Amino acid sequence: MSVPCRSCGRTLVCVDIKTDGRTVTMRSCTRCDRREWLLDGEPTDPIEAFANQ
Ligand SMILES: [Zn+2]
Repeated sequence: MSVPCRSCGRTLVCVDIKTDGRTVTMRSCTRCDRREWLLDGEPTDPIEAFANQ
């Protein structure tokens, strides 16, 4: 799945991290140095995503 950056349109780099049966996805733009996090495909805060371990 390729997702374009909302700022520059560049394809974001996706990294899936499996944690406690859930998948946390980090998407980052190498150009803007932007990062966004998703938990099971929904936007999330990384602090929340890793909080309940
Ligand atoms: Zn960008």
